[in-house]
Amino acid sequence: MKYSYPTDTEQFDFHLIDGQRIRQAGVKSEIRDPANGQLVAQLPIGTAEIVSDAVASSVQALKGNWGQLAPYDRAQLMFRLADLIDQNEARLAALETVNVGKPYSQALRDVGRTAKYFRFYAGVCDKLNGETVSLGPDQTGWVQPEPVGVTAHILPWNYPISTFARGAAPALAAGATVVAKPAEETPVSALAIAELVLKAGIPAGVLNVVCGDSSTGAALASHPDVAQVTFTGSTATGRKVMQAASNPIAGVTLELGGKSPVVVLNGANVDDAVAGLARGIFFNAGQICTAGSRLIVSPSLHDEVVEKLSAYARGMSVDHGLNDPDLGPLISLKHRDRVSGFAERARADGLECVLGGHGAAPANCPGGAFYAPTIFTHVPVDAEIAQAEVFGPVLTTHIAQDADEALQIANATRYGLVAGIYTPDITQAMQFARNVEAGQVFINGFLKGGDTLPFGGVKESGIGREKGLAAMASYTAQKSVVISH
Ligand code: NAD
Repeated sequence: MKYSYPTDTEQFDFHLIDGQRIRQAGVKSEIRDPANGQLVAQLPIGTAEIVSDAVASSVQALKGNWGQLAPYDRAQLMFRLADLIDQNEARLAALETVNVGKPYSQALRDVGRTAKYFRFYAGVCDKLNGETVSLGPDQTGWVQPEPVGVTAHILPWNYPISTFARGAAPALAAGATVVAKPAEETPVSALAIAELVLKAGIPAGVLNVVCGDSSTGAALASHPDVAQVTFTGSTATGRKVMQAASNPIAGVTLELGGKSPVVVLNGANVDDAVAGLARGIFFNAGQICTAGSRLIVSPSLHDEVVEKLSAYARGMSVDHGLNDPDLGPLISLKHRDRVSGFAERARADGLECVLGGHGAAPANCPGGAFYAPTIFTHVPVDAEIAQAEVFGPVLTTHIAQDADEALQIANATRYGLVAGIYTPDITQAMQFARNVEAGQVFINGFLKGGDTLPFGGVKESGIGREKGLAAMASYTAQKSVVISH
């Protein structure tokens, strides 16, 4: 392998609660390297009691020295954590690679982004000011931001480390405490970061990690001492989480699925558009919530875009993530079969597959969960493969005669996470940005966004915003105070 296999993965067999590794007898979830099936770790499935212990620890931390810390001092601890993440980047990236399957340099990029989130929000700690409000001569009013309380973070498997950081970092910056529940498939990096949190000097109990599955997540989302639930995952689960968090009522941020359109109109720079499409649908093997999975294109450009994108895809290297290929495996064989099921049904419906549509395990990983870059052309807008989130490297193409039709097709799904457009016409671009139903729009550079821009969806892609200063709203409670004098 180009990068060495991490040697210490089997030590990850615990929850991290109140600064302690807590081991639990009973059912374990087996973590296997999706490229070769090698056992990576065995993690406990957290019970409702374990969840309660973690929440109680976070309640105590809030009442204890974390709650008393000056914001400037909180910031210094978070800066130290970011430095530790940088210092451990190679180990963290290797752990993430064997757990998720993604190419090493993509994992390294996620680790870099993780440090960046902690650094960005460390800078926010001591700038969270309130405001005074004019109430007349005999009253003085002000609004002060306070930490919301214990925050729960239920995480997905596709970007385990950076999704963890993008929720935990603003929560800590606000002075809140964190109980994280990583996805059952990918708990390793959250545990590794939680140990660095302690090493940075952040007090025990401020950030707890409970491993487990849907039952663990449900116990956390419905826990009465949790004030805010930040959930990243599928729309179906998001619906359940919202319900679970409603009694007693907690704040909810939902980052859900997508079926994002990339529109390419006459006059667009085709090479730029192809680069954006490749980034949008083949990166992380298409397992991205923001995947640009629908190409909506002017008739005269269709074949050129599809041919250039296919040529790019044929040139992609496919290998174990530690050999740092362009394409690694999907998260599991089960998920590969789910992705391939979409393609098989589309074929059975008579749709034309011009690229891929089959497994792609390389010779050195014969049983791995690889799936080839795949393109279905001229797909009816209402076809299953054009409506459902496939969550693999599978693109559908759709012809639009003009910008109006492109917008109509772009909006014709239940999702609204991100959208992209390639056009030299600024009026066309601005009208699209205004009218497309999405939380984020990329003009002439799909997914070329900063990590500090607010992020989130509309429609069935979610509610609330993460990243940027907007995320602070989920983790602070605004208290209004009035003095009569
Ligand atoms: P998932 O919904 O199956 O699981 C997500 C998390 O929820 C896991 O930790 C799981 O254990 C937990 N969970 C499952 N049932 C639960 C319940 N009833 N109550 C509480 N928790 C429960 O999603 P996944 O398959 O892990 O992730 C893929 C999905 O995540 C895709 O739909 C993708 O688009 C979405 N996603 C969205 C974003 C975003 O920012 N919008 C980012 C990454 C992934």
